[in-house]
Amino acid sequence: MDNQINEVTIVGGGTAGWLTAAFLVRFMNLRNKDNPTKVTLIESPNVPTIGVGEATVPTMPALLKSLGISEKEFFIRCNASFKLGVRFTNWNHDDKGRATSFIHPFEAIRTQLGGQNPAYHFHKYGGPQGRKNLDDCMAFCGSAIRAKLGPKLLTHGDYESKLNYAYHLDAGKFAEFLREVSIERGVNHVLDDVEEVEQDERGFISALKLQRQGRRPVELVIDCTGFKGVIINKVLGVPFRDYSKYLLNNRALAVQIPHQDVRQIEPCTNSTALGAGWVWRVPLYNRIGTGYVFSSHFRTDDEAREEFLNHLGDEVKDADPRVIPIRIGRMERAWEKNCIAIGLSAGFIEPLESTAIYMIDNFVKLLLLNFPDKSFAPVLAKRFNETTEKMMQTIRDFIILHYCTNNREDSDYWRTAREEMVIPDSLKDLLEEYRHTLPINTDFDGVYLFNYFSYNVVLFAKGYLKDVQYPAERFIAREDWDKRMAEFIRYEQKELAGLPNHYELLRKIRGED
Ligand code: FAD
Repeated sequence: MDNQINEVTIVGGGTAGWLTAAFLVRFMNLRNKDNPTKVTLIESPNVPTIGVGEATVPTMPALLKSLGISEKEFFIRCNASFKLGVRFTNWNHDDKGRATSFIHPFEAIRTQLGGQNPAYHFHKYGGPQGRKNLDDCMAFCGSAIRAKLGPKLLTHGDYESKLNYAYHLDAGKFAEFLREVSIERGVNHVLDDVEEVEQDERGFISALKLQRQGRRPVELVIDCTGFKGVIINKVLGVPFRDYSKYLLNNRALAVQIPHQDVRQIEPCTNSTALGAGWVWRVPLYNRIGTGYVFSSHFRTDDEAREEFLNHLGDEVKDADPRVIPIRIGRMERAWEKNCIAIGLSAGFIEPLESTAIYMIDNFVKLLLLNFPDKSFAPVLAKRFNETTEKMMQTIRDFIILHYCTNNREDSDYWRTAREEMVIPDSLKDLLEEYRHTLPINTDFDGVYLFNYFSYNVVLFAKGYLKDVQYPAERFIAREDWDKRMAEFIRYEQKELAGLPNHYELLRKIRGED
């Protein structure tokens, strides 16, 4: 028992720091009340958090539920709304050069055809009744989003629902909420700046020197200090693996705007491509968060600001978007000696599929599964590092897929994204395979967040599979597809008929109806 770690010290009080604290204090001590492990979080009163990160993925409800958080309270405190998917607009153009649009849905797949992949039927016969995209033939989300429906009935309680969903949330308020929950559950909160770091003869972190409170010995440190990576990067010198050869974007402009009419609030994130990147639009209950993620190789900050404000038009009279530099890539090792980086300090790909909070969630769970004692068996760090590397690479590849399959001819940025950026071998191999067979689930080990359905949806919508003939299509019959589609549409109408309007549902949850 002497060898056990008695205190975990987290440095950083953004979403990563507080989510890690909330998770550790709950799960390390759930059945260990007599000999609890102390969790301390040190947060600078001077360095602000990044203040963005407001869209999530559908693993988020399960995370909050596992933390024992009331969903209703979360909605009220964080001005949350529902997210059923992401609508991509203007990422590709049709034959006449007009913007096309598709939805990447979060919903369970509702169309199965025996042992056959229904995507082959869609490829050969197309969608019925004007359903141009695959997602509209396999899941209900697109229809729910267009009809602005919420995913649960007015009578449903916390975490119950008919459709899969994620949230939009206020990042600042979410960190505040998690702080309150964590402190209440026993996390020791220290407001101070880490000024210096002391290492022992093996290079392990032995103490932190705080600006006001002085020296503080540590056993296991979690670096949640954001892009700076105060310990993992600056003290331990772990090399940074830059992703800029794969992905162009390295800056963002962000601003908050009011709703024109909150009753029209959409249950989805919008991602609209502009001339040198794309704009996110995340509708919260009380306001909209929006931002332009762009590449400084193609736009100065002023040019990007002008393009962004033109895009927003009348919605913003005197808005002054703030500039956020983005570091794209990952630490070669997120776990080094007795320090583990979680959040932006460990790496960031880009916000396109809202995966950063998902990664924080997974890193913390993985830490718990590989929790060390004071001997820090190297195999634990090795396993953690290999798994997190794979996780980040799988997400990176899916994000690159959106760019390398664009067909836009109207800007150098989009041509460069398609023709000049490096495509990692892992993705290149998949793209080559998809000339002969459609994506299936065994293609994606490591991260199942983006499965064969997500790949099929994106590849179909972007025309990558156009003009390809698949040998497997000789086994399929039109009558099976027509029959299945007729059933699917009937089932969809029945399921969606009971769902309330998104705005009404939010008001009901907030107790405002
Ligand atoms: P930060 O928020 O930067 O927090 C760092 C903390 O470290 C602060 O509390 C600071 O005070 C503290 N600190 C720093 N130095 C010291 C020191 N010396 N001593 C003590 N404390 C210190 N994620 C999503 O999941 N969905 C999204 O839609 C999304 N959109 C994004 C859009 C953009 C443009 C960007 C850049 C990121 C986006 N992200 C998104 C990522 C998301 O913002 C972050 O993953 C999340 O906020 C976690 O940040 P963090 O806690 O790692 O860092």
